[in-house]
Amino acid sequence: MKRADALESIYDDLKETIVVTNMGAVAVELYNLGHQPGFFYMEHSMGLASSAGLGLALSLPDTKVVVLDGDASVLMNLGTLSTMARCNPGNLTHIIFDNESMLSVGGFPTATATGTDLEAVARGAGAPNTGTYSDIATFQGAYTKAADRDEFSALVAKVEAVGPTSFAMDIGLLENRFEFARHIRNLRSD
Ligand SMILES: [Mg+2]
Repeated sequence: MKRADALESIYDDLKETIVVTNMGAVAVELYNLGHQPGFFYMEHSMGLASSAGLGLALSLPDTKVVVLDGDASVLMNLGTLSTMARCNPGNLTHIIFDNESMLSVGGFPTATATGTDLEAVARGAGAPNTGTYSDIATFQGAYTKAADRDEFSALVAKVEAVGPTSFAMDIGLLENRFEFARHIRNLRSD
């Protein structure tokens, strides 16, 4: 399964949610499907997309929040899983695209290439709903159930270590930051 195809399979739903992405390829691949004001690309803060997503989910309890993360990012902030599980926001879905590689910085193998099972870590941390998926249909089905469930879900999508041909995005970090903040303010005032 390619991450870009997995993203495309759930994009229509993501358009209606708040999405926080990890840095690197996943941000570009989501952007290439079509930018939305509720998409925040967490560049230059590797490992912290899930922490930001948790804060947003807790402060916007009536809004679905999806974190699009990577194996290397989760591995460098494993404590995030126990914090998310403990808070258990029903509006938060954590998707971990596991390509067993630090693809965006050169393709070095991560610990998931040598035995670390991030679904097992999430389950052990107390996440009430977890799963590992390696094909589009089961991933899409699991995402739909997770998004509708009133509990925190951590979904691991095993994907190929391939990314976009270009990392160019026609939106600046500050532009994204201010647009996203305005979008959040509008949600809170609705
Ligand atoms: Mg990776």
